[in-house]
Amino acid sequence: MDIQVIGVQDLPLIQRGDDLPALICERVAFEDGDILTVASSVYSKAKGFTRELAAIVPGAEAMRIAAKTKEDPRFVQAVLDSSTDILLEYPFILSELPSGHIGVRAGVDHSNIEDGRLIVLPPDPMGAAAELRDAIHRITGKDVRVIVTDTCGRAFRRGQTGIAIGWAGMTAIDDYRGDTDLFGHVLEITEEAVVDEIAAFANFVMGESHQGVPAVVFRNCRTWNGHDNVYFTREEDVVRAALKENKKD
Ligand code: GDP
Ligand code: MN
Ligand code: MN
Ligand code: MN
Repeated sequence: MDIQVIGVQDLPLIQRGDDLPALICERVAFEDGDILTVASSVYSKAKGFTRELAAIVPGAEAMRIAAKTKEDPRFVQAVLDSSTDILLEYPFILSELPSGHIGVRAGVDHSNIEDGRLIVLPPDPMGAAAELRDAIHRITGKDVRVIVTDTCGRAFRRGQTGIAIGWAGMTAIDDYRGDTDLFGHVLEITEEAVVDEIAAFANFVMGESHQGVPAVVFRNCRTWNGHDNVYFTREEDVVRAALKENKKD
């Protein structure tokens, strides 16, 4: 079955208090099984997960790190406020968020919002996806899967891609372990991070600047079985451990 990809057009600039699922449902005729991807930036704006730079008073830690990164100490304070653990301070802050997501500058974003304001990532992105899914069901009666995305840098490679920070109605991972390949070999390792693959293509459709397409619908995607353990445990995450060890020096 051909997968259909629909960028949601003509959404307004999102303000605090806007009913984002209602605005999306006015512009899309949802079908059961659709996967709706929503940029975290618009979810955060609708919910008021934004900060006013002028209202942020940087503490000593923010001042110290800002001197190294040459960033506005108030911006650095917003990053620290969003973070539960700092893995790297320089050349950029890499930190962990309450959701388990690890990202550059904690995903704090000053694009696509007025001067002097910041967008922060939703503190409970899984809850955000579930809420959007429930709201769309309430409005349309359709059973839609939802992914909340953010644009994110990657280790080892230049260039950002979209990733999933929250999802509902599906598992994050399609677990191929135990499945057989074309030659009958049993797969032992492969766990495919399907929500990230879909988020990456959604991000391509959204663009990063003035396109104004913060929501993308995927129709006719297959279903899969797996689990939600996207984030390595502390014991499993050797890169995180190495960064923490290095930070002690
Ligand atoms: P992020 O990846 O979640 O940080 O979101 P981006 O800032 O990269 O924006 C993704 C897409 O949403 C781009 O097409 C933006 O132009 C669009 N976008 C961002 N904010 C708004 C908004 O308030 N209204 C509309 N219509 N589009 C927006
Ligand atoms: Mn942005
Ligand atoms: Mn962002
Ligand atoms: Mn983006």
